[in-house]
Amino acid sequence: MAAIFDAISEPIARRVTAGLAKIGGVLRSHAWKGAGAAGVTPTQGQALGLLREAPDGMRLAELAGMLGISAPTASEAVTSLVQKGLAVKAPGPDRRSIALLLTAAGEDLADRTRDWPDFLAQAVDSLEPREQADLLRCLVKVIRALQLHGDVPQQRMCVTCRYFHPFAHADGAAPHHCAYVDAPFGDRHLRLACAEHEEAPADAQASLWQRFAGKAA
Ligand code: SF4
Repeated sequence: MAAIFDAISEPIARRVTAGLAKIGGVLRSHAWKGAGAAGVTPTQGQALGLLREAPDGMRLAELAGMLGISAPTASEAVTSLVQKGLAVKAPGPDRRSIALLLTAAGEDLADRTRDWPDFLAQAVDSLEPREQADLLRCLVKVIRALQLHGDVPQQRMCVTCRYFHPFAHADGAAPHHCAYVDAPFGDRHLRLACAEHEEAPADAQASLWQRFAGKAA
């Protein structure tokens, strides 16, 4: 009988995409409200959030890559943050490059502006814990697929981290292992933007991905 619905339904990938697009639209409108109230544009707000997660600073090219925007556009956003006293340019670790760092005021604003998607967190909170972990795992897989197609920049996710060992443990609730923390963890703990993330070499990333994506928790 399900064949009747197969025949009269749009492919599921299209309906999931339509749902994500609806959520994206709501996020965009809230982002304008949240960022506007804080006196920064949404791009500047996103830059603040990323710099907040990089206590040792970040180079402009890296920031532009993570925001998925051109270097000149990122430079404009950073110049504005510097003029507002929210960020500073300091010598990088090699002394030849420039690292972008938040000032105390920038850190404070980043902490306040990252609360704006709380409305969505409350909606996600209405899911069962298992559903939340499944959703997080599915989001990681979709974001990784987008990365592999070059549609989103590289993120500091567990699935590309040299410390990540997927399905290293028999424990179904915590099958993965983080060698940085040296502890097991489950899908519900997967990071999308981890400050301790270190990029695994390309061939290691491919095998990590195969092990992670090819086996359900
Ligand atoms: S260091 Fe961070 S990104 Fe890497 S495996 Fe551990 S928790 Fe995940």
